[in-house]
Amino acid sequence: MKFLIVGAGFSGAVLARQLVDNLDCHVLILEERDHIAGNCHTKRDDSTGIMLHQYGPHIFNTSRKDVWDYVNQYAEFGPYVNRVKAVTHKGIYSLPLNLLTINQFFGKRFSPDEAKTFVASLGDDSIGEPQNFEEQALKFIGRDLYDAFFYGYTKKQWGCEPTELPASVLKRLPVRFNYDDNYYSTNYQGIPLDGYTAIVEQILDHQKIEVKTSCRYESGVEAEYDHLFYSGPIDAFFDHQLGRLGYRTVTFERLDVTHGDYQGNALINYCEEKVAHTRSREDKWFTPWEKHEATVCYREYSQETGSDDLPYYPKRLAKDKDTLQQYVKLAEEQKGVSFLGRLATYRYLNMDQVIGEAIDFSHRWMKAWANKQVSPLFSVKP
Ligand code: UDP
Repeated sequence: MKFLIVGAGFSGAVLARQLVDNLDCHVLILEERDHIAGNCHTKRDDSTGIMLHQYGPHIFNTSRKDVWDYVNQYAEFGPYVNRVKAVTHKGIYSLPLNLLTINQFFGKRFSPDEAKTFVASLGDDSIGEPQNFEEQALKFIGRDLYDAFFYGYTKKQWGCEPTELPASVLKRLPVRFNYDDNYYSTNYQGIPLDGYTAIVEQILDHQKIEVKTSCRYESGVEAEYDHLFYSGPIDAFFDHQLGRLGYRTVTFERLDVTHGDYQGNALINYCEEKVAHTRSREDKWFTPWEKHEATVCYREYSQETGSDDLPYYPKRLAKDKDTLQQYVKLAEEQKGVSFLGRLATYRYLNMDQVIGEAIDFSHRWMKAWANKQVSPLFSVKP
């Protein structure tokens, strides 16, 4: 059997490995960029040796033990806890919102219970089930915290009013009434010692997997294969015939600092609308076990995605969801193809979700294949 996979990010790589480990088959992966690992791609800087997150910060975290065990088969992880600082009009605070943030922001000395009661009193009770990002914020944390930490950043990040965004975007971030300033609430967290590209290389290191980089998928080449697994953007698969799905792209400005400690932390968010960038990052802090006198820093800017830009964040506005459903209908008319991953299902996914879904999908797909049933069309139906 011969399978064709489009895309050598985590989706394509994990699926390829699952197929060759479980079936007697050969897999060809076509990757249009000149490297593997998609937007997780990391590369050591030529001049400083610092591991750079080429497409923005990636901190591996998950609560799925099977996913944590899976990635640890292919890489050694260093201990890392993401602790973000946020610059607001009132000063610099710790993010996610936690007891220190609340006490410092309001100049109080609240205990956990007192803070909980206080923040609840700030919330807008007149809002029932929040229908968007802004309502979610106003209902649970109130106007002052929302304006300081979320309104400006979100407007810059997404290029629209937060009322147009789903509440689920804000639900990614916890609010804590203790001094835990870990950005994530997941059980496992770390950064691979040799970066993410090395993990994907290890996953793909199998004699029955062939990868062609700088090779664009052209519709029709799948005719020679038993099945096509597509992890690129779903609208591109159909030549954008129903229009483009909205994405934000990110550009990076390398700062003119080369030595010492620029900002004392890997990530600093800039929450004010008047500051053009969303965050700044100093990549050497992602590997605190490495010691570097040199440094490399970037500012990140979020922009609307043009036809030549890389898609990063799916916007999923109401009009995008309508267009998406029409693409799903087109997909349902296809035979011999399945769609998986962040771009093919047009969803805001973290690395661990992508890996978990690729593993789960591979089991469902192989079961259907073994039983000569219809192949599952999507990793998760969008
Ligand atoms: N967000 C914000 N202010 C911040 C950090 C996050 O308003 O300082 C909002 C913003 O809308 C963002 C969302 O919360 O898109 C989710 O943040 P997360 O850190 O999960 O985004 P990512 O790391 O995926 O860019």
